[in-house]
Amino acid sequence: MEIVRAMKSKWIPVVAADKCTGCGRCVEVCGVQCLEIAEGIAVLPRPDACGSEEHCITECRDDAIHMAWVPMEGNETIGIWR
Ligand code: SF4
Ligand code: SF4
Repeated sequence: MEIVRAMKSKWIPVVAADKCTGCGRCVEVCGVQCLEIAEGIAVLPRPDACGSEEHCITECRDDAIHMAWVPMEGNETIGIWR
């Protein structure tokens, strides 16, 4: 019998591209540098380094970045997983 392992999800920031102004405040506050500005909006090119502690969320003045459970694989000793 094949054992199917459900993919885990990580609690990481997701950016609403239609609200993000590209101000960079979230990028500056992320000590482990997961976030960067690309083509005028914030993106998360390094989700594996994210500690899920939400510093970037509180910096946004435009309600453009929120935490969400995102299915992914990676180092489960970093950040919050379920
Ligand atoms: S939750 Fe923390 S580590 Fe993750 S992107 Fe935001 S500031 Fe960076
Ligand atoms: S702080 Fe908000 S508006 Fe500014 S770059 Fe980050 S997500 Fe975009």
